[in-house]
Amino acid sequence: MAKPLIAGNWKMHGTAESAIHLASQLGQHWNDQSKAQMIVFPPAIYLTAVKAELDGTNIVLGAQNLSQHSAGAFTGEISADMLADIGCEYVLVGHSERRAVFGESNSTVAEKFSAAQRAGLTPILCVGESLQQRQQDQTIEVVAGQIAAVIDLAGLDNVCRAVIAYEPVWAIGTGETASPEQAQQVHSAIRAQLGDAGKDTTLLYGGSVKAENADKLFSQPDINGGLVGGASLEANDFLNIAQQLTEQE
Ligand code: PEP
Repeated sequence: MAKPLIAGNWKMHGTAESAIHLASQLGQHWNDQSKAQMIVFPPAIYLTAVKAELDGTNIVLGAQNLSQHSAGAFTGEISADMLADIGCEYVLVGHSERRAVFGESNSTVAEKFSAAQRAGLTPILCVGESLQQRQQDQTIEVVAGQIAAVIDLAGLDNVCRAVIAYEPVWAIGTGETASPEQAQQVHSAIRAQLGDAGKDTTLLYGGSVKAENADKLFSQPDINGGLVGGASLEANDFLNIAQQLTEQE
């Protein structure tokens, strides 16, 4: 069975104080690790402080980005080993903001994915189509291509032991959400692409997940949890969403 996950991407928001406060509130109220794993992705500069706050809780730490390089003269970059060294267990790879704003190609994403796994981190591979691609009926093809690029470099088994997050670009931070049926259609295509090896792979949905729409999304057969941006910045909202995941059959 795929492991249910609820992931909070804090993006480039907050201060040291607010990050620690949010981690502390989540840590105090989240103790149900048996039904779902909670992961938070603070800004890199606050990872260590948040990690200290989460010690002794059931919440684990992830990073929003990593370098594809292992070490060397790469000013400003952070390697997978460094993230593992400070206690990260997960890392986002190929988030649409990294692809669109920072020009990360499918091949860079694949290199980052492999670098993460080499360091013992679990990558969450983010994939998704733009509004234009959806309107041109290219959704399944685009998502399959993004995943295939990583399979080509890392191999199918390695992709299957990671996590994949389907995040339609037009739904991220816009308040627009894919309908549960739209999301399930893509998730089931991803599951089919992975074949037998991917029957237990955790597939997340991301894109304006909120307390009001989480239940119906999480009840879809191939959706095993959520990657949440905006609504993960408020402890009560995020806890409410996480709770809805634990209540699924
Ligand atoms: C995200 O950052 O991955 C995301 C899904 O953001 P939001 O929930 O704000 O749409």
